[in-house]
Amino acid sequence: MVIGAGQMGGGIAQVAAQAGFDVIINDLTTELVEKGLTVIAKNLDRNVKKGKMKGEEAQAVLKRLKPSIFHEDAFDCQLIIEAATEKMEIKGKIFAELDKIVPADAILASNTSSLPITKIAACTKRPEKVIGMHFMNPVPVMQLVEIIRGLATKDEVCEKIKEIAAFMGKTPVECRDVPGFISNRILQVMINEAIWSLYEGVATVEGIDTIMKLGMKHPMGPLALADLIGLDTVLFILEVLMEGYGDPKYRPAPLLRQYVDAGWLGRKTGKGFYNY
Ligand code: NAD
Repeated sequence: MVIGAGQMGGGIAQVAAQAGFDVIINDLTTELVEKGLTVIAKNLDRNVKKGKMKGEEAQAVLKRLKPSIFHEDAFDCQLIIEAATEKMEIKGKIFAELDKIVPADAILASNTSSLPITKIAACTKRPEKVIGMHFMNPVPVMQLVEIIRGLATKDEVCEKIKEIAAFMGKTPVECRDVPGFISNRILQVMINEAIWSLYEGVATVEGIDTIMKLGMKHPMGPLALADLIGLDTVLFILEVLMEGYGDPKYRPAPLLRQYVDAGWLGRKTGKGFYNY
């Protein structure tokens, strides 16, 4: 079962179904699940039109996806990947609930970008079977899955999850359960530094992004990437880093906070460092 049919959950469900797994896709309401399934159907259709996939294959993938609005539907699932909203209370509640529903040997994975896996695991009575499975956005395109072991995660659970990620066509890379893991610990500092540079008037938005694109061969500049991720999410992760390490090097640039206060969250609101 994939919990959450949003941006990430939809992508994870699609890739799992493409790999041949039977997948239950769960969200709070039928409308939200349907919305997720519509996005998946559009993605598959685009693949068919581009000749990357046969029409029958796309149909078979869609058939492997079953909608659900009840966590109880996971009663016979071997693996749950949670990709719900990034809030500890929400994830804690989901994990505590699922722990009582799923089979004793089932693995509970979280796609969290920044919350401690050890803390999520502590909401269950099976912390040894809880693990971080951090997919990158957009899931069908990006190769990496960061695998995060909680304090209690058993070796065999970690090995199994790496095997499943590879089976889904991804490259799993293991890391310890520290704030931001590896991906966001490094990425968000770069983005924050770009925003500080803009705030201090060192260069323009286009200037900063062009320097990083042409100079470092990054496919996207850090400010355009921040707009894609969502400036509220960038701020949230920097706050997690700041709190977790207590080191002022993670202090969010005041300009970032101001943009978030203004509701300029990037692509999703039509305005961030760029206009959309
Ligand atoms: P999103 O808002 O697009 O989707 C989250 C979905 O979870 C929503 O549809 C919401 O209705 C659903 N949800 C909330 N509570 C639920 C519950 N109790 N049961 C079932 N569904 C519930 O968010 P997203 O961008 O897909 O992010 C999901 C997770 O993936 C977060 O933990 C986020 O940190 C992580 N993540 C996001 C990105 C990214 O670039 N967006 C990248 C990597 C990881």
